[in-house]
Amino acid sequence: MILPLPRYDREIQVAIASVQAAAQLCEAVRRDRSSQSVQKADASPVTVADFGSQALICEALATAFPFDPIIAEEDASLLQQKAQSGVLEQILVYIREQLPQANTRKVINWINQGNGTIAPRYWTLDPIDGTKGFLRGDQYAIALALIEEGQVKLGILACPALPHPDGETGVLFVAQQGKGATMGQLNGCNPQFLKVRQTDTTRQLQAIESIESAHSDRDRQIALAAALGMTQSPLRMDSQAKYGVVARGDADFYLRIPLATQGDRKENIWDHAAGSIIVTEAGGTVTDLLGKPLDFSQSFKLTKNHGICASHGKFHSQILDAIASI
Ligand code: AMP
Ligand code: MG
Repeated sequence: MILPLPRYDREIQVAIASVQAAAQLCEAVRRDRSSQSVQKADASPVTVADFGSQALICEALATAFPFDPIIAEEDASLLQQKAQSGVLEQILVYIREQLPQANTRKVINWINQGNGTIAPRYWTLDPIDGTKGFLRGDQYAIALALIEEGQVKLGILACPALPHPDGETGVLFVAQQGKGATMGQLNGCNPQFLKVRQTDTTRQLQAIESIESAHSDRDRQIALAAALGMTQSPLRMDSQAKYGVVARGDADFYLRIPLATQGDRKENIWDHAAGSIIVTEAGGTVTDLLGKPLDFSQSFKLTKNHGICASHGKFHSQILDAIASI
């Protein structure tokens, strides 16, 4: 007997609306060049938009699903330092455009709703994936996913700067386990089902990689391209927009090969949850570099996985074998 798939209509509706609201806030911040960014303890940047996006999405999720933990990238402790009170005030101005009842205390609480821990059911959020791309004026994404029993059930990825094939700028990817992946305009109009592309030979494979050279081992990627006889140079893009590009058939695979200098670095769950289901529901394959499925049941890191390979599927094991041999 085949059991019907569970329905997630309300989750999809709330998740899409909140991600769209966050995308509006992020684009408003980007237009306002005077807005501030702050350095985190790991020296990576975080902006008014990262915090604002997280506050809006966490507020919406906590209202609709008060018992669901949210594991999100940012934390408000930085904002509670006196030196950052100007940043908090700026965030509040943007949030009030959408939630007029907001005040600084509420904003802090909404952001800190993202401090949840792993549970049988939880959400994971990257309020701005690719903050460096966001600051550079390049690609970035707002990535939200629902996880149940360690598996991604829903993925919503807004890419406000990604060209849509119909000529508009801004794309919304939505995927539900077992129900396919769609790509529409950022406002949700005109969603179309996605299908990864196929190539006849490994020579034709088109890779896509991060703009940041420290985020994957480029030397091994070059060696892999040579081993597979690939002829095209890799595309480069910030954020999980790369997963969307593979899902819509503009590239064949995306790798994250940990650099030898970074030891056994583990990936953050929010950097892969939404993107990975968009590729798998478009007919592709996503595993780690050892061929293991991504395990979202452990912690905010993919502690049981090593690296990432997201591909259109046909040559997935050949890519993994070649990586293992170089
Ligand atoms: P991308 O634009 O694909 O490079 O992805 C951006 C994400 O990379 C950020 O959200 C960070 O969480 C993550 N990141 C930061 N440092 C590293 C690193 N050394 N290796 C892999 N990913 C990283
Ligand atoms: Mg990220």
